Amino acid sequence: MSIARHWRRRHNLYRLIGTRCRSCGRTFYPQAQRCIYCGSSDVEQARIDGEARLLSYSIVYSVTDEARYEAPVILGLVEVGGVKLITEITDASPGELEVGMRLEPVLRKVSIHGESGLIYYAVKFRPAMGGDGSGED
Ligand SMILES: [Zn+2]
Repeated sequence: MSIARHWRRRHNLYRLIGTRCRSCGRTFYPQAQRCIYCGSSDVEQARIDGEARLLSYSIVYSVTDEARYEAPVILGLVEVGGVKLITEITDASPGELEVGMRLEPVLRKVSIHGESGLIYYAVKFRPAMGGDGSGED
């Protein structure tokens, strides 16, 4: 991703901003010009927040050279405030993960731009600290 493009998208990267469809009322992530459910172009940005839960996950051992230092990569299907998204799970080993566990978003480095040294960040998810989601935290 170019620096300029990253800069334009920075609000979306640092917060979880998806798209809400005014036609069918659904929200999805990542953003798109058209609704992924009904095809309507009557869409707007929508902040996605709320409780996050791990629905499913995959462990990816074969990654690009850029990401090799952090292999294996854990990709999770996460539900956040009723929206399902695929994202990287960080700060956890595969053995710590349980389907249904509560997660929290964190900002993490994704890459370093070679020439400029600019560091790119993105939202990832990790097991929630301070409670198991039972309401006692
Ligand atoms: Zn729609």
